[in-house]
This record gives sequence, structure tokens and C-alpha cells, in this order.
Amino acid sequence: MIEEILEYNKAFVSGKKYEQYITSKYPDKKTAILSCMDTRLVELLPAALGLKNGDVKIIKNAGGVISHPFGSVVRSLLIAIYELGVEEILVVGHTDCGVQGTNSAEMISRMKERGVSEKMLQMISYCGVDFESWLAGFDDVYASVEQTAELLRKHPLIPGDVKIYGFVMDSVTGELDPV
Ligand SMILES: [Zn+2]
Repeated sequence: MIEEILEYNKAFVSGKKYEQYITSKYPDKKTAILSCMDTRLVELLPAALGLKNGDVKIIKNAGGVISHPFGSVVRSLLIAIYELGVEEILVVGHTDCGVQGTNSAEMISRMKERGVSEKMLQMISYCGVDFESWLAGFDDVYASVEQTAELLRKHPLIPGDVKIYGFVMDSVTGELDPV
């Protein structure tokens, strides 16, 4: 797969296909989007929202969630707000998310099958990491989006004038449903 990607990349650069994407680091729509890494949203999310290169900051992870209030997602949003002029944040979950119903016990047993030792897992829990809840998915995407949006609205480092919205996107049609 990597050979194919590198070959395409060479042709892309030499053919100057990048010219149509040239823009700045400042988001023209002053908006940041927190969403899921789902493959169906790679092109669908920007297409369904009419977004082009340079319009928004997009932060993605499994489920579009915030695992830690002072973790990398919030850090990225703070930089987007204070350094790059973002005034609105959209939390966009989606239907049929892979994280929905993720079973942490099953994932842990797969880790063991692939060589992670019981001792290692115990050590992680002794270090105070609630491993199971860190890995766990959510049951209801609407509740997850609402919880994430609420966390951002109440976050002590996010200014009150930043508008926070929550949506669930249909993974097939791209339709946004407000939460
Ligand atoms: Zn997802």
C-alpha cells in the first residue's frame, strides 16, 4: 500500500496538483470540528458541509470524543481558539459508529492474544489507569455528543463566547441532526 501512495505522491507534486489547495493556517470559517476517524467520513464530512481546504480545523479520533479534559483534543481546540482565531466548535458524531458498543474486555483479550502479558496489564492498572473505561466505547452517540459538547461549554479554559454545537451525521447521506 505504501508504494502505491508514494508513487501517487510523486506524480501529485510534479503535476502541480497541489496548486488548487494552497491556503493559510488560519481557518477561513473560524470553525473547528471534532469528529470521528471513521473511513466513511473522510470525504463525506467536508463534502456534506461544503468545506474546502483552508476552511476549518478538523480534529479526529475514535468516536470524536474527549477522553481527558486536559488531553490532546482540548489542547488542539485551545490552540485553534487562541492562536488561530476559531470562534465556533462543532462536535460531529455519526450513525453506526464503530466505537458504539466497543467492548473493552474483548479488546483486552485480543491484546493478550497478540502478546501483551497479564503482568503488563496489571502494572497499568496499578499505575492508576482505568484501562477498561479508557478503552470503552459509548452506547448512545447522541448522549456522547451531548456530553462532549457540555464538557467544552463548561471547560474553564474555553472562553464563554466560543459557540459549541453538537450534531450526529448520517454516515450514508451526510445529513446533520442537531443534538
Ligand atoms: Zn465513528
